[in-house]
Amino acid sequence: MKKYNERPYPCVFCEHPTEIGSGKFVNRIPIGTYHEFDDGTEEFRDGYACEECMAPECDRCGNSIALDEDISPFLVYSDNDSRHFELFEDGALIVHEHCLTADELAHYSHRSN
Ligand SMILES: [Zn+2]
Ligand SMILES: [Zn+2]
Repeated sequence: MKKYNERPYPCVFCEHPTEIGSGKFVNRIPIGTYHEFDDGTEEFRDGYACEECMAPECDRCGNSIALDEDISPFLVYSDNDSRHFELFEDGALIVHEHCLTADELAHYSHRSN
């Protein structure tokens, strides 16, 4: 069994090194997670996750979203709009600003002005 809490501190999700000098050291996040293998067995991995793996994925395009750039209905609709507490109409929850529909974007830019 591989060690995740010693050099090169492979990310518990993607296994890219997160040690000093790897480029992923600064933003790595300590985490413990159960990794499930294709055969259904699990192992507990205690170590770090790299920034890319911790970034949420856009529910529309599937690409990761940088920290603080994720947009949810909570941010698009004002809190006296019932949609404030719901998913977007297509079931998405977290999306890029450029993945908002024109209608959602109109609400969103209206709010930030
Ligand atoms: Zn990773
Ligand atoms: Zn997107």
